[in-house]
Amino acid sequence: MQNQLLILVVEDETALVTMLRYNLEKEGYKVVDVGDGEDALAFVAERKPDLVILDWMLPSLSGIEVCRQLRRKPATRETPVIMLTARGEEGDKIRGLNTGADDYVTKPFSLPELMARVRALLRRAQPLPQKGNLSFGDVTMDLSAHRVVRGERQIHLGPTEFRLLHYFMQHPGNVFSREELLNAVWGPDIYVEPRTVDVHIRRLRKALNGDDNSDIIRTVRAAGYALDLSKAA
Ligand code: CA
Repeated sequence: MQNQLLILVVEDETALVTMLRYNLEKEGYKVVDVGDGEDALAFVAERKPDLVILDWMLPSLSGIEVCRQLRRKPATRETPVIMLTARGEEGDKIRGLNTGADDYVTKPFSLPELMARVRALLRRAQPLPQKGNLSFGDVTMDLSAHRVVRGERQIHLGPTEFRLLHYFMQHPGNVFSREELLNAVWGPDIYVEPRTVDVHIRRLRKALNGDDNSDIIRTVRAAGYALDLSKAA
């Protein structure tokens, strides 16, 4: 493993923290834990973690609110976040992803499953092996600098949205099903519900479109998504 990656665990159940710390450290990660949302925000103001494991139910600030604030701060806007929650309801899950979490695990979870998700998300957050630029219409991806620009505007994307856009821009015009996108971007080794793709596509669209740009992603009913070639000129 390269430099020790820093994982911030935000959780108030001490037994769970102990278990997470033990297992994450065993895999070679450095772990810092805090027991509430305020402390989490204070920590990230000083140091930037490589990944955050964030519990939904926390004293004072909720995990949702912490996630929202992480996404607002330039330093942590692109930091991968895995949300933990005791609620298994679909609505909550989508809400969690909509506030900017990159993945979501329902308690009680299996440890190997969480570890697989941590690894997969860290992998997605790593720089791509390719160099150079990709362009589509007025969107340019600078792969070595991990930067996306649309026209004059810099676009900030989370690790998953960056990988999605990269995949689309390598295959402009191709229609990809949710399953194909899951395999290409999330990887075949973890199970993610196909609907998760829709949430990340929505986030990618929102980031790319801003207030006044046209939508370059085409939704193909019952088939999937593609870059819209009519917007490429
Ligand atoms: Ca909790």
